[in-house]
Amino acid sequence: MTEPVTLTFLGGLGRIGRNCAALETHGRVVLLDCGQMFPEELPGVDAILPDFSWIFERSDKIEGCIITHAHEDHIGGLPHLLKEINIPIYGSKFTLGMLQAKLEYVGIRGIETIELKDYDRRQIGPFECEFLPVTHSTPSGLMTVFDTPQGKIVHSSDFKLDPTPVDGRVTDLIRLREISENQGIRLLLADSTNAGSSGKTASESEIGPVLEEIFTNHQNRRITVAAFSSHIHRIQQIADIAKKTNRNLVILGPSMQRNVTLARELGLLKISDHMIASPEDIKSLEPEETCIVCTGSQGEPRAALALLARNEHRHFDIGEDDTVIFSSHPIPGNEAAVSKLQNNLALLGARLVHSGQVQVHTSGHGKKVELMELHETVDPELFIPVHGEYTHLVDHYELAVNRGMDEDKIVLCTDGDQILLTDYGLEKVERVSGREIMIDEQGSPVSEELLQERQNLSGEGFVLIRVVIDKETGVLLEEPLVESRGWVDLSQREEWANEISQTVANAVEVLLAEGERDPHQISRRTRRATGQLVSERTGRRPTLIPIVEMR
Ligand SMILES: [Zn+2]
Ligand SMILES: [Zn+2]
Repeated sequence: MTEPVTLTFLGGLGRIGRNCAALETHGRVVLLDCGQMFPEELPGVDAILPDFSWIFERSDKIEGCIITHAHEDHIGGLPHLLKEINIPIYGSKFTLGMLQAKLEYVGIRGIETIELKDYDRRQIGPFECEFLPVTHSTPSGLMTVFDTPQGKIVHSSDFKLDPTPVDGRVTDLIRLREISENQGIRLLLADSTNAGSSGKTASESEIGPVLEEIFTNHQNRRITVAAFSSHIHRIQQIADIAKKTNRNLVILGPSMQRNVTLARELGLLKISDHMIASPEDIKSLEPEETCIVCTGSQGEPRAALALLARNEHRHFDIGEDDTVIFSSHPIPGNEAAVSKLQNNLALLGARLVHSGQVQVHTSGHGKKVELMELHETVDPELFIPVHGEYTHLVDHYELAVNRGMDEDKIVLCTDGDQILLTDYGLEKVERVSGREIMIDEQGSPVSEELLQERQNLSGEGFVLIRVVIDKETGVLLEEPLVESRGWVDLSQREEWANEISQTVANAVEVLLAEGERDPHQISRRTRRATGQLVSERTGRRPTLIPIVEMR
């Protein structure tokens, strides 16, 4: 029997976001990505992380973490993990630069980072790893080929097969085919995001000409382009068009400024100094000589574009002379926020261009044709679809079956699954926690119970009832005080308060007459009397807060 390899999936399988997996052999563990997920409409929740308890329980065995690229769903969890354990981080120069900025922001120092170049081979813990270039919507993404006692394991990272990427750096299927033909690939783990979409993803370099035509058609207007701040190749194309059409480029928003600075320092983004204007200059520039690139294309409430839409930006106001291009698709879940943002910008007089009208965006994830090409190239013995909503994983499973793989060679996993790779193949062995850990802006955990309370408060409001009793005589010292918020219309608040006060007084007096003096029992009776009245008469279930004072 050859030494088995264990794969543990802590996030990213079932819902997109918080990618995190662990590969283990001979009792030593290497982590692969550590991302976060952005929550939809959860009050007071800033991010969702993988449950790190499995990692903490074996922190002395963790050899390091490979980060495949700079997207939040791959690196956003690291500041939280690295607060607790110090492990070396492996990634490309750009990815490490993006991580460093995040670590500095939260004051984490002393983390060892090891830079990976395309085609580097490195021993990381028990695995010899080879890193191959992949094209994606952020630069310098890396595919990893793990050499393990159970053969080669390939992790695709987020990728597309773009024959004409802006930086000329293509996903290297040639090297992959060589490995496959010479040594064979035992197991493939591959990106499933677009496994449900037929055809091929459009090349990034097709977007430039579309944007340029918009610039031409809107030539006397100020143009603002909203894009992802990590999408350096999109920003490059926007900068090139701005230069060609004699516009100054203004970079708006802290993350946009940070990422542009880093990418320029690393030579990944080429913009000459003289064409960059500062946000303070916008007011003095003519509309036709201005191109603004900014964040907020997903409707993020604190981003530059949202401030502009609310007329709250300190540098300029959007008006009749403005054209705003949304160079992105709304991520599922963000549609409503994006449409509200677009409405507000249009109300201010701006003309809008978005991906529903013309192709101002393309995905960074390969569709069916590209995934099939990857499978053909790798020709793995075994396959686990990763990175996707559960339906995407199923689509990817079916794609592999259609290619001719046996169903028993493919395992559909979800967060928390632990898989053993042995001489006999893949086997689900265990469930570890796949729990989604919610945290607030300060990084403190938000429990399910706390979230439930907040959701109930936001939907139903609360009613507070204070009862004051003379502990000697057992008499109510005053009429119960009732305060409520978010429960009934303001005009009815007082009327309801009086009614509740009366009902509670009656109920408590009966109890007191029976000789009851225990504040807990009186509190329970107060709650029940209020609850009955409220739910019978209004059909609502506000949070009830009884307070009993014995004087
Ligand atoms: Zn990505
Ligand atoms: Zn991703």
